[in-house]
Amino acid sequence: MKYFKGNANGGLTPITSEWMHKILMEFEKLNQLITEYGSPINLHNLSTFEQNIKKFSKVFNSRGLRHQIYYARKANKSRGLVKQALDSGIGVDTASFKELLQSLELGGNSNSLVLTSAIKTTDQIELAIQNNITIILDNYDECKLINSISSRLGIKAEVGIRVSGFYVNKKKLYSRFGFDVDETIPFITNHFGKNNELANLSLKGLHFHLDGYSTEQRGVALSSCITIASQLKEKGFHISFIDMGGGILMNYLANEQEWKDFDNRLRESVQKGNSSITFNGNGLGYEMVNGKLNGKLKTYPFFNSTNGVDFLNEILDYRDPNIDKNNTDRLKSENIEIRIEPGRSLLNQTGITVAKVAHRKKDSKGQWLVGLEMNMSQLMSSSADFLLDPYIIYNTYTESSEEVDVYFTGAYCLERDILLKRKITLPKLPERGDIVVFVNTAGYMMHFFETEAHLFELSKNLMFKEDKPSIKEIDFIEDSLITLK
Ligand SMILES: *Cc1c(COP(=O)(O)O)cnc(C)c1O
Repeated sequence: MKYFKGNANGGLTPITSEWMHKILMEFEKLNQLITEYGSPINLHNLSTFEQNIKKFSKVFNSRGLRHQIYYARKANKSRGLVKQALDSGIGVDTASFKELLQSLELGGNSNSLVLTSAIKTTDQIELAIQNNITIILDNYDECKLINSISSRLGIKAEVGIRVSGFYVNKKKLYSRFGFDVDETIPFITNHFGKNNELANLSLKGLHFHLDGYSTEQRGVALSSCITIASQLKEKGFHISFIDMGGGILMNYLANEQEWKDFDNRLRESVQKGNSSITFNGNGLGYEMVNGKLNGKLKTYPFFNSTNGVDFLNEILDYRDPNIDKNNTDRLKSENIEIRIEPGRSLLNQTGITVAKVAHRKKDSKGQWLVGLEMNMSQLMSSSADFLLDPYIIYNTYTESSEEVDVYFTGAYCLERDILLKRKITLPKLPERGDIVVFVNTAGYMMHFFETEAHLFELSKNLMFKEDKPSIKEIDFIEDSLITLK
């Protein structure tokens, strides 16, 4: 038994944790888990998740900010993470009836849950109101619906208003979500409050969640919301929280130079029209138009020097040039609770996806294809490719072997079911039954887009805590067995 990272040279080396390497050394254990639960399996380390929670909490505590962290559970479907978030003292951001119901069943309550769904159905709203869960409002129709359900139930609804369209360097940021920043105050004063149309809605806070990963944009958005809150105060509305959503950048890669080199080599290969880097010369967003290189890399920015806690600090330190205090000091002087809803970044280093090699074959171009017992929907995000080198564990490895370039292929009857678009160099052609491991997949990669085409079973999610010295002794708990007690 021996394991290797793919692409020993010229790859995209992922940041990994000690626990991942311990597991990579346990071929027998992984094989046993695959035999029991099928391939692929998703392993989740709850201890890592808990450490990530602590790191974010510390940022707010050290600044003396009243705060709440909501784990955005859309990034990963597992119950175990919801339970762990609640056990660790943070909340959970829910965005559907089932996400909310399950989070309530796992111990969530009005202090720990928030409902931020893009489309709000009557059953969702009823469930939220009956449990006094704060609802984040997106549009006027929704406000009227919630107000009428609230009236029918005889329970006031606690709400926050989602704001968008912030001005950053005089340019307006477009979003399909929320109320326009210029209309927020008139909307609130015309519709909210006693004797007004939306009198059953109790306005508690403001909310935003921005696309993209600019700390400046988030800093400006937060600053604008604080200004709105203080203007609303003069009109008799008390804003007790501002929720700045998620999107805290994460860094997946160990080496910035590899990231830059990859980008250069990809551009070059698209320009030359060859397929030296990716399957069938897929440009991952780059393309040649009239003999010129066009487009940009359509993937997550996998390398980031400012990420996690640093990213959050930049937003909290941001100061509007026209205001004498930074965001942190303004939040404190206005006595506003700051809230965040991180999904991906809380799942950093928390999960791996493990799959079994089903076959090897050469295609008509003479390329090696390695079929895995998994499909493209089990390693898919909105990114054009998952740009991290995978690991291979050989059941038997002999030193004299020859290097081989491969593409990993999946089980869907689609030509495009190529699990990683990048060509991966391995020290030796895998055998049937060898194991491929994709690391750091817990945020969005595992099952955000997972489908049951061909009636394939959904992958199983196993939860564990690093509470034993050896992986062999660790209990892996199947996620559906996780309950409140
Ligand atoms: C997607 C989303 C999040 C989580 O975003 P991450 O990038 O996973 O941190 C939080 N809040 C809202 C409203 C979202 O839509």
